Amino acid sequence: MKSLLITIDGPAGAGKTTVSRTLADRLGYRYVDTGALYRGVALEAMDRGISPDDEPRLDALCRSLELRFARGETGTRFFSGETDITDRIRTPEISMMASAVSAQPAVRRALLDLQRKMGEKKAVVFEGRDMGTVVFPNADLKFFLTADLKARAVRRYKELAGINPQSLEDVETDMKRRDENDAARKTSPLRPADDAILIDSTEISADEVVAQMIVHVEKRLASRKA
Ligand code: C5P
Repeated sequence: MKSLLITIDGPAGAGKTTVSRTLADRLGYRYVDTGALYRGVALEAMDRGISPDDEPRLDALCRSLELRFARGETGTRFFSGETDITDRIRTPEISMMASAVSAQPAVRRALLDLQRKMGEKKAVVFEGRDMGTVVFPNADLKFFLTADLKARAVRRYKELAGINPQSLEDVETDMKRRDENDAARKTSPLRPADDAILIDSTEISADEVVAQMIVHVEKRLASRKA
């Protein structure tokens, strides 16, 4: 079977992670969560007291970092150098800091090559905000997954309940702010690629979203054989 490079973009809480992971599993592809890379930069900047407005220091930081995913017995873990930061990057503070540092062109530039390298061998599902528009404009298949703000906030609230509990109201406020930052920034704003397939997951389950995606994958593979 020919391998595809698939991108899934969309706002926070639209279900991208669950869907991307499941789709990758079903196809036997790798899955790359690019939000983790921005969160990694945010965590390291916070630990060093670097302001999200200090582009020169963020630039230097990105050049010095070694961010990588590694598969282990407990699933894929995320490392900065030798330190496992998988769990530390999942806090509301890091979400906001990631949104702030990701608006800096120097940070986006630094992560661009890393992401493209990860896509060289195809057979991969990339999840992010600008995968289909900037990082992989020639991706084989692009999806833009969205849902109403309320539905997204409820999903994120439930996810966070087990790790870093926050009130539903705070989750919704943070999410709205982050969406606005991500969509308004000058460099690589959050928006669907012109050739992206739009899927609204407000009323449908993650399994149904994946089923719809598989139909498109099959069509795409069939068109390549023809
Ligand atoms: O997807 P996740 O919520 O982990 O992403 C955290 C933040 O990283 C987003 O709010 C966004 O600002 C940034 N991000 C980005 N481009 C990507 C992935 C994430 O700007 N490709």
